[in-house]
Order: sequence, then structure tokens, then C-alpha cells
Amino acid sequence: MTDQPHVALNDGRRMPQLGLGVWRTPAHEAADVVRTAVTSGYRAVDTAAIYHNEDGVGEGLGEAPEVFLTTKLWNDDQGFDQTLRAFDASLARLKRKAVDLYLIHWPSPARGLYLDSWRALIRLRQEGRARSIGVSNFVAEHLERIMGETGVVPAVNQVELHPSFQQTTLRAFHEAHAIHTESWSPLGQGQSLTDPAIVAIAAKHGKTPAQVVIRWHLQSGLIVIPKSAHPARIRENIAVFDFVLDDDDMGALRALDRPDGRIGPDPATATF
Ligand code: NAD
Repeated sequence: MTDQPHVALNDGRRMPQLGLGVWRTPAHEAADVVRTAVTSGYRAVDTAAIYHNEDGVGEGLGEAPEVFLTTKLWNDDQGFDQTLRAFDASLARLKRKAVDLYLIHWPSPARGLYLDSWRALIRLRQEGRARSIGVSNFVAEHLERIMGETGVVPAVNQVELHPSFQQTTLRAFHEAHAIHTESWSPLGQGQSLTDPAIVAIAAKHGKTPAQVVIRWHLQSGLIVIPKSAHPARIRENIAVFDFVLDDDDMGALRALDRPDGRIGPDPATATF
């Protein structure tokens, strides 16, 4: 799988549009899961310090330096100096000299430190150790603050996004600022896969519901990081480049958006 789609980030770099998510992949399985993914053609992996599997991810990637690697700063480590220290610790666990993308995991507004953390990410990018920098779970207000104070626009905002929660307003804001939207829990943590409309589209194309949902993210211009720790599903989730959803399919998927479709915490009010 060498001809996968990439997106052009606002800092001039390219990022594979499809990657493997490893939240809840146990540390002792992570190396094997990542090796399976790389053998299956994945060229991007999304981890985080709080997933406690960076060691295994680094081990699995050992022989595959070409893979685009994302990790994230955990909330307890926010603040300028703390961020620099936490980044060094992540790099050591990952056994890398640099990562492709470093994200602030949550704004955690109650701590009041995300601007200082963003300044540290800017430093890491200047040093070339975080090749691109971005954020996760930021709402427009948080984005406006870091961009206004530093003039540096995040390359990516990784947010909850799946057919039941499509984030149309935030996506329009991203588009206006050349920020790429990356979808977390892109399969709705599995909930999207039993939706009758999605099951019907899958039957029509002779594909699985997971493949239809991943295809929808890709055709919507989103970066997508489905998670699985099972080899057959890891392979299934990348076998999405041999079919195209038509306008009817895309319309039916668009109609699944719900105001109450969020699964995870609301970043504006989350207290962790
Ligand atoms: P997901 O939407 O990717 O769903 C994963 C679940 O769907 C699996 O556990 C499995 O039950 C099911 N599944 C996957 N492939 C399948 C297949 N082919 N057939 C049937 N079932 C299948 O959920 P996720 O793990 O929450 O999100 C993906 C990634 O997004 C995470 O691993 C992580 O990297 C990232 N993430 C980031 C944040 C954040 O705050 N930035 C939050 C959550 C997740």
C-alpha cells in the first residue's frame, strides 16, 4: 500500500490520511500490533503518553522509521518547562530522536496552562524534534487564543468525530484557518458499525461497515485513525482504497449527524 492519500499540512509537510490508533492497546501488545499494521501498509500511528504504550509502539516501529508518528502531551504535564520534560520522556520511550506530530492532548482550561504548553511546542518545532505541532480537543475559543498570542497556527486539531457527531461548525473554523481536522473515535468506538444506514451502504458495496465509515472520513477530507488490536481488523480497516462512496451514500451518512451524538467528554467543560 504505497499510494495512500496524504494531506498537506499548513507547515509544508505531508501526513498520511489514514493511520492506526492505539488507545487501550495494552503496552505488552503494542509492539506486535504496530508491526502488523506496518506490514499491512499503515504509514501512520497515533499514540499518547497517557496510553502508557509508547515503549511498545517504539519497539514495533523500530525497523520502520518511515512511519509518521504522533504522540501527545498529557494534561498533568502542561506548562512550558513541564512540557519540554514530558516530551523528552516520550521520545525516550519511543526510542526516537523526533516525532512527526506532537499534540496538546486536551486544553484543560481549568489549569490555565495550554498557552504556555503551546509555546513549548513551538520551541520543539524550532528544534526540529517535533516536526509538526498541533492540538487535540480544542474548541474555537482555545484555538483563537493560541493563534492570537503566538501567531502560530496548529497543523492539526484532533477531535471526536464520527457519523453521529460530525463537528460541522468546528470543521468550518478549521478550514478558514488551514487547520486539518483529525477524527478520533472515527468508528464511534464501534457504535457506528451497527447503524442500519451504514450496514445498508456496506452491503451495497460488498464492504464492511468499518470500511464504509473509514471511507467516509477519507472522502470528507478528514485524517482518520481507527483503532484495532486484531490483525484481521487492522488489515480490513486499510482495505479501503478499492471503492468509492457515491453522492447518495455521502448524503445518507451526512444525515446521521446528531447534536447529542458525542461519546467522550466535552472539552469546554472537562475538568481533568
Ligand atoms: P474507534 O472509533 O477507532 O473504534 C475502535 C473500536 O471499534 C475497536 O475497539 C473495536 O471494538 C471496533 N472495531 C475497529 N475496527 C473494527 C472492524 N473492522 N470491525 C468491527 N469492529 C471494529 O475508537 P477509538 O479507539 O476511541 O479511537 C481511535 C483512536 O483515536 C484511538 O485509538 C486514539 O489513537 C485516538 N483517540 C484520541 C482521543 C483524544 O482525546 N485525542 C480520544 C479517543 C481516541
